[in-house]
Amino acid sequence: MREGSEYVRTDYQQGAVQFHLAVKAAQFVCPSCQSGNAIRKGRRERSLQTVPIGVKPVFLVTEVPKCACKDCGAKFELAPLLPRPMCITPKSSRRVPTR
Ligand SMILES: [Zn+2]
Repeated sequence: MREGSEYVRTDYQQGAVQFHLAVKAAQFVCPSCQSGNAIRKGRRERSLQTVPIGVKPVFLVTEVPKCACKDCGAKFELAPLLPRPMCITPKSSRRVPTR
């Protein structure tokens, strides 16, 4: 798992595995003025399919926080830093969170 993303939980739905990731508040930095004084205004979710585990399809469900900078007023979305797909190939499935 790369810095900035936080593992939330794993869901199993209709034979598919979903890893839910959240973005840490420490990542809320304004891209315009580099201020860390940004607040969360909302969020949406983005799902993308990644390397399957065995025969199970695997999806990464990440939140995309919508933020506003309190210093310069810029509004921005934070695309989460996704773990590299190679981290969850079957060979290294031992490293996949199973909580
Ligand atoms: Zn700003």
